[in-house]
Amino acid sequence: MNILLASSEVFPFSKTGGLADMVGALARALANEGHEARVVTPLYRGIQKKFPEMRRVDWHFDLPLGLGWAQADLWELDLERGLKIYFIDHPGFYDRAGIYHEGNISYADNAERFIFFSKCVVHLSRYLPWRPNVVHVHDWQVGLVPALVSQQKQEGWGNPPPIVLTIHNLAYQGIFPAEAFALTNLPKYYFHSDGAEFFSLLNCLKAGIAYADSITTVSPRYAREITTEEFGCGLDGLLRRRQRVLTGILNGVDYTEWNTTKNPHLFKPYSVGRMAGKKFNKAELQKILGLPVAAEIPLFGTISRLAEQKGVDIQLGALAEMLNTKMQFVLLGSGSPEYERGYRDLVRHFPNKVSVYFGYDETLSHRIEAGCDFFLMPSRFEPCGLNQMYSLRYGTIPIVRATGGLDDSVIDWTENPKRSTGIKFAEYNPRALAKAIRKALVLYSQPKLLADCRQRAMTSDFSWKQTIGHYLNAFNSITTHKQEQY
Ligand code: ADP
Repeated sequence: MNILLASSEVFPFSKTGGLADMVGALARALANEGHEARVVTPLYRGIQKKFPEMRRVDWHFDLPLGLGWAQADLWELDLERGLKIYFIDHPGFYDRAGIYHEGNISYADNAERFIFFSKCVVHLSRYLPWRPNVVHVHDWQVGLVPALVSQQKQEGWGNPPPIVLTIHNLAYQGIFPAEAFALTNLPKYYFHSDGAEFFSLLNCLKAGIAYADSITTVSPRYAREITTEEFGCGLDGLLRRRQRVLTGILNGVDYTEWNTTKNPHLFKPYSVGRMAGKKFNKAELQKILGLPVAAEIPLFGTISRLAEQKGVDIQLGALAEMLNTKMQFVLLGSGSPEYERGYRDLVRHFPNKVSVYFGYDETLSHRIEAGCDFFLMPSRFEPCGLNQMYSLRYGTIPIVRATGGLDDSVIDWTENPKRSTGIKFAEYNPRALAKAIRKALVLYSQPKLLADCRQRAMTSDFSWKQTIGHYLNAFNSITTHKQEQY
């Protein structure tokens, strides 16, 4: 199959979260299975310098954007057999310090930036000599693609490829003032309550949900959750209406990036049969964190955007209580200044037990995964979550709230001790998390049980090999279905 994927971030070119990891890994997995995957993404600052082997394509975009026109160039990079990346080069839009914002302030022209990007995606899928059988778009930044394609079909595009939309996080919808709709150059009838309009505002993700041929989200449980009022972020009604084409597919892990045996970020390799390396990684991590180097003290870690979704409030509450016991905690994160203050307070109260790093650090993230004993993910909601799956492979027992993909990927110690890979809790409050941490301390005090749990965690398999078939089924079902219509 020829699959064109479109995403505003793709690892290893750009990344703010799980979206980048997933798209990069899915494209690679498709190529490894013998399909032809091409990915289109903006050319952000610094990418060209990091990948000087990219080539300029003889192609120029000149597309209407509201009352004006916008131009861009196109670059390509052959990453591996069957995998090509296209970069949209519009320096005014994408050559900036951030991807979506600077400091904590979103770029004022994000509507222009990503509506233009969506138009480039449509243009490529229509005019590239290489014909995609499916266009796979990810999140609100390319949410308008299905509507734009449907419009072009009405204007004479005979046989457009079907569009699959994957929702990575329903909480981010790309909502803009109604005037931004003019930038789409779509006829007015797309701006209605069953289309791109949301309480008189433009909602890019909603447009995607309304017009995509198929919708997936990143775990089976989250697929069910988003059709309820509690998790639906105002779109549950539309999602219920589209439930027939909505499926949940758990993200896979790219174990070539996230592994403990061949990983340049780690202090020492380790594996199920050679766990001494994990101890070494813990000691080195404690050293660089400035914490007492002590094998017997359990080390807990979190790597996260500091956003409400991630359960920061209950984590701060639970840690304030639990840090009175024998434990250490490390955080790597960035986000809301208010939450950063909360963690700074923890450091002030427990200087010998807590270490925090604000910012983004790829190497440290691998070192934390490898050096910790437990990984905390107390999310309020979690579409899939990747860090708990990375933790499993690193033998770092995940402590997760039973929601979305966290519930789908971790087996709880109390519920099923013989198969367990982690610790789960259900209620969203600091007490429930503190109780889960207490359970972790009990597990830590029983080396045999801990070793068994680690072994099960490290051998559980969330590779794309397991997952890719589900995506191919989703692609195949609509391509067959579409062909029947013509
Ligand atoms: P989300 O996409 O909601 O942020 P996920 O768990 O799906 O959460 O994915 C988060 C990804 O981003 C993981 O690869 C994680 O290691 C990475 N990450 C998050 N914050 C940081 C950070 N401050 N430094 C390095 N990596 C980070």
